Formats: sequence, C-alpha cells, structure tokens
Amino acid sequence: MPLTPIRVWKKTCDFPGCGNKHAGRGLCGSHLTQLQRGQPLQPIGAAFRFAWNDRQGYVHVKAPAGHPNARKNGYIFEHVLVMSQVLGRPLLPHEQVHHKNGVKNDNRPENLELWAGHQPKGQRVADLVSWAREILACYGELFPAPDGEATGSVCYPPTAADSRDRRSVLPP
Ligand SMILES: [Zn+2]
Repeated sequence: MPLTPIRVWKKTCDFPGCGNKHAGRGLCGSHLTQLQRGQPLQPIGAAFRFAWNDRQGYVHVKAPAGHPNARKNGYIFEHVLVMSQVLGRPLLPHEQVHHKNGVKNDNRPENLELWAGHQPKGQRVADLVSWAREILACYGELFPAPDGEATGSVCYPPTAADSRDRRSVLPP
C-alpha cells in the first residue's frame, strides 16, 4: 500500500533559526510581515537589534560567542558582560551585578558592584569559618588586605557544591 503524506499543521516558522509560532505561509508573524512588505527575509530585528533596553531598563547586548552567561537567544545583560570582563571570568550562579547609582542602563564599570548570595549554611562557627574562607578564596584578590594576608581568586570554575546547589552557568 503506497504511503500517503499526512497533513501536519505547521507549528513553527520556516525561516532558519527562527522557531517562532507559525502565523501563515510557513512563516511567523514577523517574517510574514517582512514578506508582505517585499523585504528580503532576515532574522527578526537583525537590522537594529544589536542592543536594546527591556521594560525594566536593563540593556541586552549580543553576547560574545560561547559566553557562559549568555542566554539561549545569544544575548546577555550588558551589566553581566561588563562585570565578567572586569573579573576576567564568567559570573557564577550565585553572583549578581548591582548598579550603584540605581540607573539600570548605566553600565560603566565604576557604577557596577559584584554581589554574591549564599545559601543558608547554618550558624555553626565551623561552617561560618569555612564559608569565610571560601569568600576570601573567591574574592580576596579583589579587596587586598593591608597586611598582605594571602588571598586568592580561585572560585572559577564553580565547585562541586555550586553545581549541586544551583543550576550551573557552565555548559555541560
Ligand atoms: Zn519567523
């Protein structure tokens, strides 16, 4: 018996790499608009969307290839990118970037401050001391002690504890 093709309702846009919901003629709404305007089809917003502000006021920029802090769509918060350049490494899952002056699109390095959260580790002194050592090992180099205390900057790549407790930023 000859096989007959089954009509399958199109779910996504045909434009390579698009994947938006299908709207008509094989394309998503945005690509359909490009087609109807007689424009050559191109990635949505490719002409202007190198960077944009979101509704919260944060700036998104195209991430350098392979940046571990990039999102799936290839963009990254500019403040995250700038801080990772300052640190010379990607941000860890528990790290956030704070805008000192509260202006969320002011991403000058001097306006950015690295914040680190930590999971509750209890109040046992032994735990607090080991936590303090982790903090020094990770960030001590950024804030050198006047007495020349030995500190490092050795928290990257994430420890096993990081990957266990939080979704790691690193590719698998
Ligand atoms: Zn599309």
